[in-house]
Amino acid sequence: MFEKVLIANRGEIALRIQRACREMGIKTVAVHSEADAEAKYVRLADESVCIGPPPSARSYLHVPSIIAAAEVTDAEAIHPGYGFLSENANFAERVENSGFVFIGPRPETIRLMGDKVSAKEAMKASGVPCVPGSDGALGEDQDEWLRMAKDIGYPIIIKAAGGGGGRGMRVVHTEAALIQAVQMTQNEAGAAFNNPVVYMEKYLGNPRHIEIQVLSDTHGHAIHLGERDCSMQRRHQKVLEEAPAPGLDPKVRNKIGERCAEACRKIGYRGAGTFEFLYENGEFFFIEMNTRVQVEHPVTEFITGVDIVQESIRIAAGLPLANTQKEIHFKGHALECRINAEDPHTFMPSPGRITLYHAPGGPGVRVDSHVYQNYLVPSHYDSMIGKLITYGATREQAIARMRIALSEMIVAGIKTNIPLHQELLVDQAVLDGGYSIHYLENKLGLNKH
Ligand code: ADP
Repeated sequence: MFEKVLIANRGEIALRIQRACREMGIKTVAVHSEADAEAKYVRLADESVCIGPPPSARSYLHVPSIIAAAEVTDAEAIHPGYGFLSENANFAERVENSGFVFIGPRPETIRLMGDKVSAKEAMKASGVPCVPGSDGALGEDQDEWLRMAKDIGYPIIIKAAGGGGGRGMRVVHTEAALIQAVQMTQNEAGAAFNNPVVYMEKYLGNPRHIEIQVLSDTHGHAIHLGERDCSMQRRHQKVLEEAPAPGLDPKVRNKIGERCAEACRKIGYRGAGTFEFLYENGEFFFIEMNTRVQVEHPVTEFITGVDIVQESIRIAAGLPLANTQKEIHFKGHALECRINAEDPHTFMPSPGRITLYHAPGGPGVRVDSHVYQNYLVPSHYDSMIGKLITYGATREQAIARMRIALSEMIVAGIKTNIPLHQELLVDQAVLDGGYSIHYLENKLGLNKH
């Protein structure tokens, strides 16, 4: 096992990884920008290195500073968390070429899955069902675009091969709008992701977002940890997640889960990963793979008892998976509310000083957050300040506990989306479960496209 791990991230996930390392007896190095110098998890790390000024481009995304920090502290491995450099194949390569272990998949796997066109091709070849769409990237022939769209059937969605974070997508309802929509998406994708390649998919009208968590080691073993339902979304961004997905037959789960595990074995996947699907009329359609630990991993940890972050570290150290598929049992139900520093109605970010903070507790309540009273939420980063996760023997119990936890939680001095979550947890569709990805935007009266 490693003696020292550098955590190339910030906020709640930096703290989550730090806790996993400490439990495993691994020393930690926190790297931080000037804006995060005072953070408690930075103080709690065995060592810390300031890697630059507040803007991410000059700190958390600045590869030479991170490599240099690993060199001066003699860290053996680097955990990238999520976001920032976690799905950057060039970074993973630089880490390995500099003699460190990258806690995640091999750089070529990140590259394969980071391009949504090649990811879909690889998945199709591995027997994972995909959303019907163009055969790979769109070429230059506009008549061909029209033909393809007609074959697929409107509405269709144009997606950027290099897209992420809910950006680089455009829905097209009619033939008349197609050409211009493709060109606009190409231009935007070129500017935003440095990659103008786009492809076409059937736009599913009322799907759920259901994803499968996998773990795959370097000894040819791969298992799945079941599914998460992440259909509560705004602007293609997740708001609330749960596991298991309400109403999903365990036989169906095991079948799609085994397909994903088999795909991992075929591509020689290494580490923790997630296969994201849209689920409609009882069918799964692959949309993309995330080659890293996800924000919503705790709901799966609650229902399986597996520590996904510790497993990712063990796999990177060359150890075999701690569990076989037979040893994985799904028990109870878990929910996660993402707590954001933002206005609950306009969603405008609300950074600033937290003047009063009180975290909830009690049986089945987990708070993953790096914030505390008097903490200054910086304006430079994502607005998520923590996650509230509850577990219950039943979905009803997990919901009841979440309601209580939200009512106990106090975050004063800034605005948060706690009131939105409180509204959602008394909403009939949420209580029933099984709502589609459009539910929240319809409820909020937002027209998505
Ligand atoms: P990103 O990498 O930006 O997260 P994804 O491909 O994972 O992009 O898609 C994000 C979300 O966009 C999905 O959860 C879903 O809400 C919506 N979406 C993507 N593809 C489709 C599709 N073919 N039909 C309907 N909605 C889609």
